[in-house]
Amino acid sequence: MSRPISAHIDTQALRHNFQVARHHAGQTPLWAVIKANAYGHGLMRVAEALAPVADGFAMLDVAEALAVREAGMDLPILMLEGFFDAADLPVFAEYRLTPVVHNLYQVESLMQAALPARIDVYVKLNSGMNRLGFREDAFPAVLTALETCPQVGRVTLMTHFASADGEGVDEQLDAFFRIVDGCDFPLSLANSAALLRYPQTLSGWARPGIMLYGGSPFADQTAEALGLVPVMTLASEVIGVQEIEACESVGYGGTFVAPSPMRVGVVACGYADGYPRHAATGTPVLVDGVRTKTLGRVSMDMLVVDLTELPDADVGSPAVLWGQGLPADEVATAAGTISYELFCALAPRVPVFVR
Ligand SMILES: *Cc1c(COP(=O)(O)O)cnc(C)c1O
Repeated sequence: MSRPISAHIDTQALRHNFQVARHHAGQTPLWAVIKANAYGHGLMRVAEALAPVADGFAMLDVAEALAVREAGMDLPILMLEGFFDAADLPVFAEYRLTPVVHNLYQVESLMQAALPARIDVYVKLNSGMNRLGFREDAFPAVLTALETCPQVGRVTLMTHFASADGEGVDEQLDAFFRIVDGCDFPLSLANSAALLRYPQTLSGWARPGIMLYGGSPFADQTAEALGLVPVMTLASEVIGVQEIEACESVGYGGTFVAPSPMRVGVVACGYADGYPRHAATGTPVLVDGVRTKTLGRVSMDMLVVDLTELPDADVGSPAVLWGQGLPADEVATAAGTISYELFCALAPRVPVFVR
């Protein structure tokens, strides 16, 4: 028998969440964001599940994009970081990959390229996030260069919000419209948070990511309240049980000390499986479908849970680390991170089952 840990990917849940995005977006077409191995859910299985419903895929790894093309999917593909080397441009043209153009190297490379076909581009504006994109002063010259460039087909203008999950989008939206003032091009603005909360960002194409995987982009609103359902469930089993006395400690560093006699279970899941080591004592876990909590430090291959109130739980009892019945967002909060990071960290050694 193999170690009992496994991840389960629910493709029906994925499609359900996509329809939630569709509902909020109305007429706005949707790039399904499947970067980073589809947020750790498995690129090809997610691409295949969403290809019939999405309007396009947004990603950023050329090898991943080619894998999608080679599997016969011919939806538009948006490459969120563009191309990294002018030598990649023929591949973008051949496989119809739409690069985000966000630096002058890319503009110059396009102007100097000789391509078999024009390629559509997304021009990224830095409206305040100060990550990728052109500022107001650089934009007019970039736009002129791209508009007159024989290698370039359709131009779309995009930006990305830093705080659609918190402070809001108004300042960046104002900055964006000031930069693109008077330009009549298609737009692409919204990520999941903007799509769900700021309908004024729904011009052109939206780019939902985390919501497709059933994560809430908001600290103040649960995925369930947004109508989203978990796609990934990380499950394992209890592989050991200890009865401990008051004042005995649990795990490395003895950071948890029992206040009274306790029954504790050892679950076959640790940070080498992608479970966050920073998850503190008290992080929620389901055992036998009942909510309990972790105790002490997470080890490489194991973590310890409180079974004091679960007298029937024993070796072989099922444990859910996140997913169905236990939102990843709650586990993420307890570990000081976000569900995105939990999903992306799922380790290759965890076997994945699709349903
Ligand atoms: C990752 C990403 C998205 C998706 O963001 P979510 O918060 O997961 O919805 C959208 N746009 C860009 C540019 C991104 O990098």
